[in-house]
Amino acid sequence: MFESLSDRLSGVFDRLTKQGALSEDDVKTALREVRVALLEADVSLPVARDFVKSVQEAATGQAVTKSVTPGQQVVKIVHDELVNVLTGEGEPGALKIDSPPAPILMVGLQGGGKTTTTGKLAKRLKEVNGKRVLMASLDVNRPAAMEQLAILGTQIGVDTLPIVAGQRPVDIARRAKQQATMGGYDVYMLDTAGRLSIDEELMAEVEAVRDVTNPRETLLVVDGLTGQDAVHTAENFDSRIGISGVILTRMDGDGRGGAALSMRAVTGKPIKYVGLGEKLDALEEFHPERIAGRILG
Ligand code: GDP
Repeated sequence: MFESLSDRLSGVFDRLTKQGALSEDDVKTALREVRVALLEADVSLPVARDFVKSVQEAATGQAVTKSVTPGQQVVKIVHDELVNVLTGEGEPGALKIDSPPAPILMVGLQGGGKTTTTGKLAKRLKEVNGKRVLMASLDVNRPAAMEQLAILGTQIGVDTLPIVAGQRPVDIARRAKQQATMGGYDVYMLDTAGRLSIDEELMAEVEAVRDVTNPRETLLVVDGLTGQDAVHTAENFDSRIGISGVILTRMDGDGRGGAALSMRAVTGKPIKYVGLGEKLDALEEFHPERIAGRILG
């Protein structure tokens, strides 16, 4: 079990009797604990270092408020700074889906939860935003994945593009665009193929699909439990394809959510949603406060 950061800091400050202002030594001692807690929460080392530096600046010399203990005060400073880093621009969860039919490109590695998340998001767009959605699978190498999306579509009452054998992903993307235009859909979602790791063929394929559809949103779906790997995946997809946001899945797992902090700090891209389970309504808008609380423990 993790020892929560709040507990660690209280422990540190119980041993200190300084009053008035937080001294540099107090802050240093506390920051060591903060760094360890961040690393345990799976935040990457450079991000943890930068983070600790900015907390140090915020904390040094700050007067200790009468109503709180120094430990609580540092926890608050850390919490506020976490929220600060985790908060992107714009509304959490807001997608650019005006000017129908708006294409949404779903990208990511195999097993990250891309197809399930495509279904979850389609359901949400339909039920919460009242949009007519068309989904298409471009995973031509895995017929089972195409079937999976069709089954999801039936479950949530969202249309899927009929499967035509032998088409290339770009052809399917063109067909989806055409059908979405002719059929009066508000949004069409393209579930691209995943691979076990990033390879040239995958990137070239996604790039070609991007170029024929000009997506309004390119959302990277990535397993939030994979920590540093998730961040590398995001950097790779962003530099090659250009992503507009991230959806972190498996945030119902027992990870501490540190990937969210690293992801924001390294890519600068907003985390739009988090996946919280296998069920099709287990998708939530990203709340920086909740993840901050989870990292703090
Ligand atoms: P893809 O290969 O990226 O398309 O991955 P899938 O959508 O097929 O998902 C792989 C597995 O992860 C499935 O068993 C999903 O039910 C599961 N999954 C997806 N998102 C979540 C999530 O947020 N939480 C949990 N616990 N499981 C998820």
